Amino acid sequence: MFGTKEHLRAQEGHLLIDGVDVVDLAGEFGTPLYVTSEKRLRENVRLYREAFPESWIYFAVKANGNLALLRILAEEGMGADVFSAGELSLVRMAGMPMEKVLFNGNSKRIEELKMAVEAGVRISADSRDELLALSEVASEMGQEAEVAFRVNPDVSATTHPKIATGLKTSKFGIPWREIVEVYRTAMSLEGVRPIGLHCHIGSQILETSPFEEAAARMMELAGEIVGMGGEIEMMDFGGGLGIAYSPETQAPTPADLAAGILPVFKDGCQKLGISPRMILEPGRSIVADTTLFLTRVNVVKRAHVNFVGVDAGFNLLARPMLYDAYHHAVVANKADHKPEEKYTIVGPICESGDVLAKDRTLPKVERGDIVAMLDAGAYGFSMASVYNGQPRCPEVLVGGGRAELIRRGEDRSVFLAGQIVPPRLLK
Ligand SMILES: *Cc1c(COP(=O)(O)O)cnc(C)c1O
Repeated sequence: MFGTKEHLRAQEGHLLIDGVDVVDLAGEFGTPLYVTSEKRLRENVRLYREAFPESWIYFAVKANGNLALLRILAEEGMGADVFSAGELSLVRMAGMPMEKVLFNGNSKRIEELKMAVEAGVRISADSRDELLALSEVASEMGQEAEVAFRVNPDVSATTHPKIATGLKTSKFGIPWREIVEVYRTAMSLEGVRPIGLHCHIGSQILETSPFEEAAARMMELAGEIVGMGGEIEMMDFGGGLGIAYSPETQAPTPADLAAGILPVFKDGCQKLGISPRMILEPGRSIVADTTLFLTRVNVVKRAHVNFVGVDAGFNLLARPMLYDAYHHAVVANKADHKPEEKYTIVGPICESGDVLAKDRTLPKVERGDIVAMLDAGAYGFSMASVYNGQPRCPEVLVGGGRAELIRRGEDRSVFLAGQIVPPRLLK
């Protein structure tokens, strides 16, 4: 019923995640609620480790910043791709080894560069200007920062335009024609030691050919760098592997990705006589399918279409609104009932765009039903906001047959936090 999602099944009408009834979870912890399968998370990492036994796999923290989940990923041997000082603090706290962290970002603050140098993590420089800033910062600190370069490989990947990052028009990376010159500059600068190349061509990519194309371009650049006397210790091919959000979609596995890019990498290295570490930075394909987002039906309104009003919308799951993304919807307390009618599932936010799912054929929906949105583990909670007076919800981890709270829900004090009303306005 749930395809390859072996952690999900229906039993006596209810949806279960690793054997735990999600309707019970909604009762115990309240809704809205994020629920993650620990088993599935560990399995997803293992798929990568088996496909890429010699590579370092970095988790893209922007996909999910929950500390308990990061802790599990650290236990599984993952490193991290961080994009800010905030994300660096998180992975430090999760116990990830600093040698397996890459500090990315296209517009880093000086304080962030300092923090990265201090932590001893590698930094991906996104521009020549940033390289110069890093050189100044690290020299002043009497340190030498290991720096990789974010390449814009000018490769087009079929995905939503807002998550394609490898086109020449994208804000990310150094144009690939300029990479060798920037590398040469770095070799003569104080405070930095150039160690390799980095790219990330986009997200939710459902074919392996764009990855192969980018890898080939990266190996070509590595060749030019080696040719002018540079050293290459790491080659980071980014993240971006897509997942099957809808039952009709086929997504490549980490093994498929390996079959595509490993030969390009290995042949290239052999020809150049180099043996850099290969690094990958998956986010979505590690965490998306591990997590359900549970909401409760407040109202059913039969209007122009049948609207199902649930207790959370794009404040807690922004992807449908941001990218027209599809998340499969299941009525969790009627999980094996016959689909009967078409519904559009909407949230409580005061915007017409607050639609979680459009035109879905579901069992008859009634007030009080629990609607589960599948595959919500990546770019779900991590993008949540408190817009429109909606506090963020709790997160729960299911592991070893039980459920544990891994983030408390917020209360209304979140709206007061940090606010200052000048005394003159209190008269
Ligand atoms: C977002 C991002 C990733 C992860 O992308 P996924 O599609 O979630 O795998 C990896 N690397 C960088 C630099 C990113 O910005």
